[in-house]
Amino acid sequence: MSAVTTDPGQAPASTEARAVDTDPQRCAPLRLMAVHAHPDDESSKGAGTMARYASEGVDVLVVTLTGGERGDILNKAMERPEIRANLAAVRRAEMARAREILGVRQQFLGFTDSGLPEGDPLPPLPDGCFALQPLETAARPLVQAVREFRPQVILTYDENGGYPHPDHVKCHQVAVEAFEAAADPDRYPGCGEPWQPLKLYYFATFHRARFEALHEEMVRRGLESPYGERLDEWVDNPDRPPMEITTRIPCAEFFEIRDQALIAHATQIDPEGGWFACPRDVQQAAWPTEDFHLARSVVNTDKPEDDLFAGVRDSVVCDGAVHSTVGQVSR
Ligand SMILES: [Zn+2]
Repeated sequence: MSAVTTDPGQAPASTEARAVDTDPQRCAPLRLMAVHAHPDDESSKGAGTMARYASEGVDVLVVTLTGGERGDILNKAMERPEIRANLAAVRRAEMARAREILGVRQQFLGFTDSGLPEGDPLPPLPDGCFALQPLETAARPLVQAVREFRPQVILTYDENGGYPHPDHVKCHQVAVEAFEAAADPDRYPGCGEPWQPLKLYYFATFHRARFEALHEEMVRRGLESPYGERLDEWVDNPDRPPMEITTRIPCAEFFEIRDQALIAHATQIDPEGGWFACPRDVQQAAWPTEDFHLARSVVNTDKPEDDLFAGVRDSVVCDGAVHSTVGQVSR
């Protein structure tokens, strides 16, 4: 069994992570958890990174908060009545296929998709949906999943959700809550033994520098770039400075796996559509990494990083010795 202790008198800003691990079954592997709102999100954000770490023996778990029941069918080829009538089951099957392709584990937490509200004024969110759940209710299954899986590193969206889907914003909130609460034995009683995750990252996938690099490489090769207009119209929000990219994970050789996993979400992804408008070899040449923002860390690490487990690897000792890492929580 493992035991995690935290100093009860300690302020949260200087959390000490201290784990004693004597169970060889639970020991050794590094563990990475990606927290997502819907099936398909895992394949469009950080998928190459997950595939790479999984190939290196890291235990990777995707946690999917909702079933994606209110997603549209975004691929015309899949617009058939029998698919529409069984969308939740179809999306589960798509998720199972994507998980297999990526070589990761996956767990649904059972909330109901809130849907993307559209119109002016926006319609109210549907009763009982994920985004309307109180924070404690929404975070509870995730806290339990964190305590069971015991990840050192958690990935999720930034506070704006990456894009303004209410489930993505809520996903950010519950992931932060779980990161902060999972180690506290007084919080979420009945949800397992406390566990201190060490690093929390936000995906930084759709950022300007990457689109500029892809655009320039396509133009250089005489290809028609799909990004010109987007870049011309790009306006940074003065109230919301772009997120600092602290961590770039080289994973170009896993872009093909990422693309296959995306295509597995056939109701959501049109193989002829925008996701594949930039040839893979252009991406591999122009921007061969997936990028992240280190939002919280209880281990010491030097930025910029090229490894999500920087500062973690040295501290994970599996012979029953104390794994102890001490650092300031950086924000
Ligand atoms: Zn989503």
